[in-house]
Amino acid sequence: MKKITLEKVREMDRIDPFRGKREEFLLPEGIIYLDGNSLGALPKAVRLRIRDVTENEWGQSLIAGWDKHGWVALPGKVGDKIARLIGAKQGEVVVTESTSINLFKAVTAALQVGPKRGTILTEKGNFPADLYVLDAIARESGGKVKIKRVRREDLIASLTDEIAILCLTHANYKTSVRHDMAALTRRAREAGAMTIWDLSHSAGALPVDLNGCGADFAIGCGYKFLNGGPGGSGYIFVAARHQNKILPALAGWMGHVRPFDFSSDYQPVSGIARQLTGTPFVIGAAALDAALEVFDGVDMEAVGEKAGKLGDLFIGLVEAECPEMKLACPREATGRTSQVTFTYPEAQKIMAEVVKRGVVADFRPPDVMRFGLAPLYNSYEDVYRAVLTLKEIFKQ
Ligand SMILES: *Cc1c(COP(=O)(O)O)cnc(C)c1O
Repeated sequence: MKKITLEKVREMDRIDPFRGKREEFLLPEGIIYLDGNSLGALPKAVRLRIRDVTENEWGQSLIAGWDKHGWVALPGKVGDKIARLIGAKQGEVVVTESTSINLFKAVTAALQVGPKRGTILTEKGNFPADLYVLDAIARESGGKVKIKRVRREDLIASLTDEIAILCLTHANYKTSVRHDMAALTRRAREAGAMTIWDLSHSAGALPVDLNGCGADFAIGCGYKFLNGGPGGSGYIFVAARHQNKILPALAGWMGHVRPFDFSSDYQPVSGIARQLTGTPFVIGAAALDAALEVFDGVDMEAVGEKAGKLGDLFIGLVEAECPEMKLACPREATGRTSQVTFTYPEAQKIMAEVVKRGVVADFRPPDVMRFGLAPLYNSYEDVYRAVLTLKEIFKQ
């Protein structure tokens, strides 16, 4: 490989179609932030919006804000913004609660509208929180639901006529492996199973085409590559064809057809709003709404392309400069998420030192080094400088 120089990476930044986007974020001086896969950086628009929603909307309008500032409609409005990024239609996504709770809602709904079978198929290395929710659903089912965890290589072969739901995370948090959503969804459909995709590590960083793949349900976080702020609302996608067949396991008054009639009987509203439960967290939804402005007019295919190039550069530089680190994610950009992963026996020590030197990335036990690459605000120079920092540490 030809030596990659600082001049070369600066040239890559000069011709980057997203070079102006970094200015839309507030990033601390002297920090190279490679952790947007865990907590996205702060878009400047969010700061202003939070101020407005608190000081003006809440502060001045008080309870009238529900109508006056469209607070009731906010979860659907923000959901529609996310829809464009994940290949969903308007009215198929709503912003509400956390990913974990939305997973519970998606699984219980899929069990209702899917085939009358009892097994949910997932991957051994799935995100732990998702596995906990699945196991809890099995426990609560009194033996009717079983969870089958298999290795990634065995997923296709395991899609038998016993499987009710295929439940996977699109992009793995640890190995950076990206599933072929189209192929797996097609296979699941052929087997008569429903699909649930967790998009927490892909939405906002990679192109996602839920309807193009024929997916049934999806969920995801608002605070990773969507930059909605710590603990911000997640979202749920329900394909239009299923929405009105679901009787939600978490029936809530915000999903009632006329919530403000305060009727004693639950009558669900039509459409995606049926997935709402309690009163929406307006400040969080407003933050996510403002954060999504950075995606206005942004082509997600181009975002995915840059994610691939950032990762390719990272891998190339590490292999040239830090041969101690072992590549632990796919080399092929299309098989990866927007993060690169390496292993090293003393990863924890190295990562602590890296963070001390202003490169924020993270460690996952036992020996995993993760570097999140956010295409809208990370530059090629960030990657170059991060690897240079790693090299210095290894040289000590
Ligand atoms: C980040 C993440 C979560 C976190 O869920 P919360 O309910 O927001 O804590 C769940 N699943 C996956 C796949 C994630 O990446």
